[in-house]
Amino acid sequence: CNSTASVQTDVTAADARGYRGHDMLAPFTAGWQTADANPLVIEKSKGSYVYDTNGKKYLDSLAGLWCTALGGSEQRLVDAATKQLNSLPFYHSFWNRTTKPSLELATELLETFTANKMSKAFFTNSGSEANDTQVKLVWYYNNALGRPNKKKFIARSKSYHGSTLIAASLSGLPALHQKFDLPAPFVLHTDCPHYWRYHLPGETEEDFSTRLAINLENLILKEGPETIAAFIAEPVMGAGGVIPPPTTYFEKIQAVVKKYDILFIADEVICAFGRLGTMFGCDKYNIKPDLVSIAKALSSAYMPIGAVLVSPEVSDVVYSQSNKLGSFSHGFTYSGHPVSCAVALETLQIYKERNIVEQVQSISPRFQEGVKAFSDSPIIGEIRGTGLILGTEFANNKSPTDPFPPEWGIGAYFGAQCEKHGMLVRVAGDNIMMSPPFIFTPQEVEELISIYGKALKATEERVKELKSQ
Ligand code: PMP
Repeated sequence: CNSTASVQTDVTAADARGYRGHDMLAPFTAGWQTADANPLVIEKSKGSYVYDTNGKKYLDSLAGLWCTALGGSEQRLVDAATKQLNSLPFYHSFWNRTTKPSLELATELLETFTANKMSKAFFTNSGSEANDTQVKLVWYYNNALGRPNKKKFIARSKSYHGSTLIAASLSGLPALHQKFDLPAPFVLHTDCPHYWRYHLPGETEEDFSTRLAINLENLILKEGPETIAAFIAEPVMGAGGVIPPPTTYFEKIQAVVKKYDILFIADEVICAFGRLGTMFGCDKYNIKPDLVSIAKALSSAYMPIGAVLVSPEVSDVVYSQSNKLGSFSHGFTYSGHPVSCAVALETLQIYKERNIVEQVQSISPRFQEGVKAFSDSPIIGEIRGTGLILGTEFANNKSPTDPFPPEWGIGAYFGAQCEKHGMLVRVAGDNIMMSPPFIFTPQEVEELISIYGKALKATEERVKELKSQ
């Protein structure tokens, strides 16, 4: 293949393997990155580690993309997939035909989610599809109720809800909108609940939450409550920088949403199944959602699958309406794919048998304290997180209003140092994110802390050097 032969860089072993200027239009990747003569190619995984094609071992501090909760070598999941592939590799779930694993998984999910009563599960292949499904469900619901104007969605700045057209619109990250003519006009964004960055002088966390709830209410009143259909939120914001909610935030936000008959959608794609030390983020923050999006740890990423959990209020309307008007015409060829469902069922079974929530609770205090002990570093603005999720934000003079010059690439430098020392982290500008597998051992936590410390020391030196130039 010579399609990318025009990219000229030094010849390396990677060239010999044919990876230079590779042929993928790679997700969330710049052209200059794929022209790199030496991309990181991961070939194998074992427990909490992944290995590249040169045999180098990395501690996978992000669990793939916040998803391989049971690590990279869980034989029971491989067996569950193989067994299903051998008996029924595929049948669909359209027109009231379906498969046993999808029926069983729906039941299991409704039993597992207890923060509010849910009566139906709809299957997707991803978190993005789950959130797109949310919008269509909510629109269908309001059309069925004779409220055709109640269609707008409120999401939050810095949220991440996926990258399909609608999910990217819901997301509150400029990079997902710029050059894509997004967000779609029915999406509004309200404040990001990041206390450190946005609180006013002297404002307590509680006051900050109150102010954000008032702002939300003002936005609803300005737009007209009869036009607002739903509010969507991640319990802990993930890709936007790992932002746990400030005290009393969800209590106050939920009160506003309820007052104006607006549905609450919990995007649990990252938080669900134990990540925060509770089964769901909704359990941790006492959120009573009408709709829930899940994916990622649902199958520990061994097969692609996502789902929407639907409250009886919404599903009853959708069902009664479709009895009159025809089917709920929405679905994917692979909605309820039997192999994905079989793997998800086995994943949930393992979570139960191994008391995964307790496992996360036992490992997370040292993870949190160990990394947060570096908070005094002169180049760190804030380290934040809970359970098995942590974000680090670098900042000049530790100030939320004084970022390092982007061209210094401080976050990228830290990420490269981690990689050098054998650990993969997520870098987004000067934000570093980590969400290790739930199976992390105490030794692996220590290793993570040690590599983090070495990378931080090198990054501090780098900043000194840059400042002296
Ligand atoms: N919602 C949240 C909170 C997410 O973190 C993600 C993915 N990181 C998504 C939705 C989208 O999921 P997917 O990439 O599977 O489409």
